[in-house]
Amino acid sequence: MTCPCGSEKDFEHCCALIHSGQQKASTAELLMRARYSAFVVANIDFLYNSFHPSTRRFQNKQDIKSWATANSWMALEIVKSTQQTVEFKAQYKDEDGVLQIHHEKSNFKELQGNWYYVDGRLIN
Ligand SMILES: [Zn+2]
Repeated sequence: MTCPCGSEKDFEHCCALIHSGQQKASTAELLMRARYSAFVVANIDFLYNSFHPSTRRFQNKQDIKSWATANSWMALEIVKSTQQTVEFKAQYKDEDGVLQIHHEKSNFKELQGNWYYVDGRLIN
């Protein structure tokens, strides 16, 4: 399948390599894209493990799983990315089939050569 992250590459040659650890997300944006793809394929472990250690302890795999699987993820649009932030819009259909847009500006930090998602702020 085409990678859900919008790269137009094959999933196996894109975010799947990051999910499996064969390739590192070398930028915050690449990690953001891989996290979006992980929502699409419900890779809960990747979503959990890509949280920065400072915020990971507030996460719960069951909550991540509920959010990932309750919605149908339609498309990712990167609005703006800098070295440590990514603003994006994720389109999804909620449990009632209503199209929603999750618009967020996220913060990322690098730790020992790996990028991690720290937190994000919703933009309305
Ligand atoms: Zn991808």
